[in-house]
Amino acid sequence: MDEIYLDNAATTAMSPAALQAMTECMRECFGNPSSLHMAGQRAASRLEEARDIIAEAIGASADEIFFTSGATESNNLALRGFVLSNGAGNVRLVTQATEHPSVLNTANYLRQEGIDVTVLPVDENGMIVSEPDEALFSGDGRTVLLSVMHTNNETGAVFPVEKLAEAARRNGGIYHCDAVQAVGKAPIDAAGTGIDMLSASAHKFHGPKGTGFLYVRKGIDLRNVTFGGEQERSLRPGTVNAPAIWAMAVALRECVSGMEENSERMRTLKALLKRSLAEKCPGIHVNAEGAPANDCTLSVSFPGVGADMLLYGLDREGLRVSAGSACSAGSLEISHVIKAMGAEKYGAPIRFSLSRFTTEEEVMRAAETVSSVFGRLTEK
Ligand code: PMP
Repeated sequence: MDEIYLDNAATTAMSPAALQAMTECMRECFGNPSSLHMAGQRAASRLEEARDIIAEAIGASADEIFFTSGATESNNLALRGFVLSNGAGNVRLVTQATEHPSVLNTANYLRQEGIDVTVLPVDENGMIVSEPDEALFSGDGRTVLLSVMHTNNETGAVFPVEKLAEAARRNGGIYHCDAVQAVGKAPIDAAGTGIDMLSASAHKFHGPKGTGFLYVRKGIDLRNVTFGGEQERSLRPGTVNAPAIWAMAVALRECVSGMEENSERMRTLKALLKRSLAEKCPGIHVNAEGAPANDCTLSVSFPGVGADMLLYGLDREGLRVSAGSACSAGSLEISHVIKAMGAEKYGAPIRFSLSRFTTEEEVMRAAETVSSVFGRLTEK
């Protein structure tokens, strides 16, 4: 039985070019980039080349890119680092209910530390209800740090990033964007858009796991949250993983160069999947259907079945998808995203997420598989 992997929002396979770049760099550039000898300097020069490639890919300059272990760390560093550098009493954090746990749990922690935190509610499409106006950025003398993701990882809903960035700039706020589900898949122009900080993870765009970056606009002062050496200008101490970072840059460069064509393909396949599921599975509900959507993520709720039974049945047939987010998959509780949208009532939410490697044949076979497993489970 061939496996069909439609869980690319959880993680992607490394692209052949990124895999080759990583293994070559592990062999040739294993030195510590902080070492002054040639072996170290070989790695250091790859690191700086990677920084240039990544900066160019997201519309930033190289000295605004800080390498991290991934978006969880980037999100922690952005929020906690900003609070530390400004002083807890001088910051008000505003975020929204469908953020990833790496933002929401950092916000919870900061609240316990005495920081004023607001979590904005969302409507049935997962969109923020409040307008990004003066009131949102009113901080009673405190700087408002607004953290709203680019694209939701469970539904593929896209937030009005330009509008949020513009509103933050106009009202003296700072805008952090968790762009994990967008980098490599949608055009990003950090400086042009006016984003102040942006987080990403390599493994979501066919790079390696455990590697990512945080973009910090020049002029934003962040304090380090871990202590050690002077790597990454002391903001993120620890020996830098040059081979993985090099592979991340290669992966991102590939994504950016083929973006238009890949987006178009994925958009067509996502529409095909949605149509096929609607035809074959009566009563299903597409989550966040009224929100602007990305090209590759489709969240569908199936009535009258348990998410665990459905997921198990699909997995047995070789279809790899997820219920809610992978981060909560162990427990298979209805996710906070579905709850925040009030979408529990529609049934068991299943997320299908495509990549540029997904084929039409896989999508058709996936729809067949879902139809037969769902049919079996709902048979009276
Ligand atoms: N933010 C979003 C929107 C994500 O989808 C993820 C990964 N599921 C993360 C942050 C965290 O990324 P990582 O696990 O690579 O640290």
